[in-house]
Amino acid sequence: MHLIKGLVIYQGLMIGRARKLEPVSWDLPATHISPSSITAEIKSLEDAIHSLAKTIELQFNELKGSEEEKAILSSHLLILKDPELISQVKDSISKNLVPAAVAIQQVFSQVQEHFKNLSNDFLAQREADYRDVEQRLLLELTGKQQEVLHNWAADQIAILKEATPSWVSAFAYYKVPAYCSEQGSLTSHASILSRALKIISITDLAELWEKVSENEKIILDALNGKVIIDPDISTLQYYEKLNANYHKPEEPVIMEKDSPIKTKDGHRIILRCNLDPLSDLNEPTKLNADGVGLYRTEFLYLGKDELPSEDYQFSIYKQVAELIAPHSVVIRTFDLGGDKLSHLIPSAPEDNPYLGNRGIRFSLSHKDVFKTQIRAVLRAAIYGKVKLMFPMVKDYQDYLQAKEIVEECKTELQKENIPFAQNLPLGVMIEIPSAALCAEELAENCDFMSIGTNDLVQYTLAADRNNSALSDYYITHHPAVLKLMMLTLQAGNKYEKPVSICGEMASQPQYVPLLIGMGFKELSVGTSAFLRCKKIIRHCDKELFNLIENTDLGHLDSIENLIFEQLKPYYKF
Ligand code: PEP
Ligand code: MG
Repeated sequence: MHLIKGLVIYQGLMIGRARKLEPVSWDLPATHISPSSITAEIKSLEDAIHSLAKTIELQFNELKGSEEEKAILSSHLLILKDPELISQVKDSISKNLVPAAVAIQQVFSQVQEHFKNLSNDFLAQREADYRDVEQRLLLELTGKQQEVLHNWAADQIAILKEATPSWVSAFAYYKVPAYCSEQGSLTSHASILSRALKIISITDLAELWEKVSENEKIILDALNGKVIIDPDISTLQYYEKLNANYHKPEEPVIMEKDSPIKTKDGHRIILRCNLDPLSDLNEPTKLNADGVGLYRTEFLYLGKDELPSEDYQFSIYKQVAELIAPHSVVIRTFDLGGDKLSHLIPSAPEDNPYLGNRGIRFSLSHKDVFKTQIRAVLRAAIYGKVKLMFPMVKDYQDYLQAKEIVEECKTELQKENIPFAQNLPLGVMIEIPSAALCAEELAENCDFMSIGTNDLVQYTLAADRNNSALSDYYITHHPAVLKLMMLTLQAGNKYEKPVSICGEMASQPQYVPLLIGMGFKELSVGTSAFLRCKKIIRHCDKELFNLIENTDLGHLDSIENLIFEQLKPYYKF
């Protein structure tokens, strides 16, 4: 058995067999064609372009997600229909007397080289777009992808070195349910498409290609970001049970959708969704969620060729505010820094980026960029029920500085006669231990708090959240973490300010009963975890509170016994 941790692109769970998809080799023989074959080669090029364009258009029309996914496909379509590029390929066929596939490679590699030399994040993405269109065109021309995917078995999980949008689109077409890849990032086009097309997926799995063999049994735990290769019997049994529960709910899930979000003994729990500008904005409404508890905005700044303007941001926030109304949406100001750097905002290299200029610190040190965003939110807030939240606040002083900038923006908008929301509620994320320890002062002054467990665990236990080698140290349910969460909740209760949890902990089934039993009444979870969480909430009862009351939450052993033994009936049913 071997376990590798990675980043979840799209949540789900699958037990199956590995099918490794070698990067398609395009070492085409350096053959030449006779002048009499020129017309035929040009015809097959035109056919391939035509058929690929049709596929992309079809995918474009089927995509119900955000504009972002459509933009990827449109950019591919533009490349494919670029008359200059096509005529260069045709010229290469007729002048160099090479087959269409070789001509495509020659022309596209020149373009890619050009982008590589201009390297920055955005252009690197353009280079990837060209590489991808080239791949798709070659696959179309040679029929190779169909060859690999057309007889895909239902229990096969695709293993890739790196996913490309062309692989992901083909997975959707050939009904490949899940994949995992060694390299990749959550914001790549391939990942964006995977989410839009709802393909269960994990990436950033170190040494995956080497560690997994063809046809080997694997578990893709895209609920917790793990791939387990050759699982032992007890692990397999555990996941088989979990899988049965995870997949069964098709009908109960539909029923779940309309049932009230209450515990068995009638306590109303507020359950919201976490969203970002890349997600499907219709999901919270479809799920009957109580709104959006975390709307991450940093993706508006990543992989772009220019900083998002106030008007552009206004239109994005207005859209989400209108769609989510009458429920509220908590817009979090951009959390840049750490591992999320925008090439558009210069920042000095740091030895410890996670302990560096990140979140609210980054915003306060880039006041113009920050003000642009706040103005956009203030303007959009009149179109729905919007709240503004600051990430990575260390204490009240950070909050105060951010609040002063909000006031400054209000004064400006007033002077400019631009309509805006006068009473925009302001809140903070509790994700640094100091903020939890000083939560009373924050609770007294701000309008709401939301616990970001992803970072709170990382900073409390000094264990990098992205370092899979430290996964044994990254203990979400550690007593130190629970203590900080309780301090925050008590502070919120004292000043009657709502406290929500928007970190991944709230999306993980085994923690939901614990959180409810600890007294949390507001959770915000990933859309794919929503109905499962709701189902668990509806299983919670009075006995749960007794169980938690009688547990010593100061010791890891007793917490683990509570979660993994006593609370099992609440999340495994
Ligand atoms: C968190 O830290 O728990 C959180 C929700 O924020 P992010 O994952 O975006 O850092
Ligand atoms: Mg965080």
